Amino acid sequence: MNLTSSHPFWSVNNGLPENYPSLQRDVACDAVVIGGGITGALVAVHLVEAEVKTLLIDKRDIGTGSTSASTALLQYEIDVPLRELIQKVGLTAATRSYQLCRESIGKLERLATRLKINCGFERKPSLFLARHKSEIPDLREEFQLRQKMGIELEFFDAPAILKRFPFSRPAALFSKDGGQVDPHRLTHGLLAAGQRAGLEVCDRTEMMRMEQTRRGVRITTMHGFQITAHRAVIAAGFESKNLLRGAAGTLKSTYALISEPLPRISGWHQRCLIWDSGSPYLYMRTTTEGRVIVGGEDVDFVNAKRRDALMSQKTRTLVKKFGRLFPDVPLEVAYAWAGTFGETKDGLAYIGVHPRFPHAYFALGYGGNGITFSLIAAELIRDSLLGRTNRDAHLFRFNR
Ligand SMILES: Cc1cc2nc3c(=O)[nH]c(=O)nc-3n(C[C@H](O)[C@H](O)[C@H](O)COP(=O)(O)OP(=O)(O)OC[C@H]3O[C@@H](n4cnc5c(N)ncnc54)[C@H](O)[C@@H]3O)c2cc1C
Repeated sequence: MNLTSSHPFWSVNNGLPENYPSLQRDVACDAVVIGGGITGALVAVHLVEAEVKTLLIDKRDIGTGSTSASTALLQYEIDVPLRELIQKVGLTAATRSYQLCRESIGKLERLATRLKINCGFERKPSLFLARHKSEIPDLREEFQLRQKMGIELEFFDAPAILKRFPFSRPAALFSKDGGQVDPHRLTHGLLAAGQRAGLEVCDRTEMMRMEQTRRGVRITTMHGFQITAHRAVIAAGFESKNLLRGAAGTLKSTYALISEPLPRISGWHQRCLIWDSGSPYLYMRTTTEGRVIVGGEDVDFVNAKRRDALMSQKTRTLVKKFGRLFPDVPLEVAYAWAGTFGETKDGLAYIGVHPRFPHAYFALGYGGNGITFSLIAAELIRDSLLGRTNRDAHLFRFNR
């Protein structure tokens, strides 16, 4: 699958921070992680820190799948609003899912700090903008539900928005908890830390076949070598659908751009993360270098040729929409790219064992905040592999 167009910003900007060999021998280990994006890296670090002998392989260069295209807003708010999620999965499961996403932002921050990973992690508040007056009652209900579960947020009416931003919108939710990161540097930093703790990393090594054996899995690589392991973790992103014979969610394409660094960005309150209630939604953030990232304009197909043919048009639209919100910010596009992403019906990830693969865990961080799900996956899979009970595992299981 072609996961991204040719120039996603992070991998162009960072180059190849590290080289890894391809696997050229048979290996036996406790766990093999398939996929070296942000999900596989988080899972692998959690496993080696728990002293599980782990090998990670990736068919591409590390971090050059969806992770290199991610705009990497770290949000506790999933694509499905809390009030809708309650209707889909019930109050307890919905509030717990929101809570876990919220906690995972702090956990990512602490992990990056503890492992001394220079990845531009910053705490940022998050602004969710209503587009129309008719959305105000729903937004008020959403505000109350989130407040009730202990989330720190404010309800902004139109004057409150105008006081802080150069645009007018009928209402917004301003949440304290959010963050942003360079996902490519975070991935490489995690793997470097993992290697120091005994992790083996091989890229340009494709898994061609996975067999379930009596005691685990046997994986055959593209070079004909075999990996035997007690457990496999499939962190293969949207390409996991090849194994599942169909995606666990719906795959789409989405567009993003990053500006040249700006000397100043005026009128952007606390340089918060911004997203809106559109479908597809428009979203934006800044970076440590003073760049602006804008994304959205999703389309309902993944065909790479069709997707990339629309890039100039989608980029122009994103620039125009940004200009309507921030008319005084002279945004000049440095890079624009497109990528595949996935959605699930309830907005939650699929994490856990799939009925067809009893010795393999899947870690599929679908949705607009896949990275917070990656952290949740790392914890759930580590716990399960160590035989620890984790009361949250059922929230993300297949066939829920
Ligand atoms: C434009 C865009 C914007 C996004 N914005 C955000 C955002 O703001 N916030 C957020 O949280 N999320 C965002 N996402 C989603 C986020 O990027 C993904 O959830 C995340 O990157 C998934 O990481 P991953 O490691 O699971 O997948 P990937 O990064 O795709 O990693 C999977 C890896 O598995 C490897 N692989 C696949 N099959 C095999 C095989 N058979 N053998 C060996 N290796 C294999 C691939 O080569 C790949 O490197 C965005 C996505 C896109 C495209």
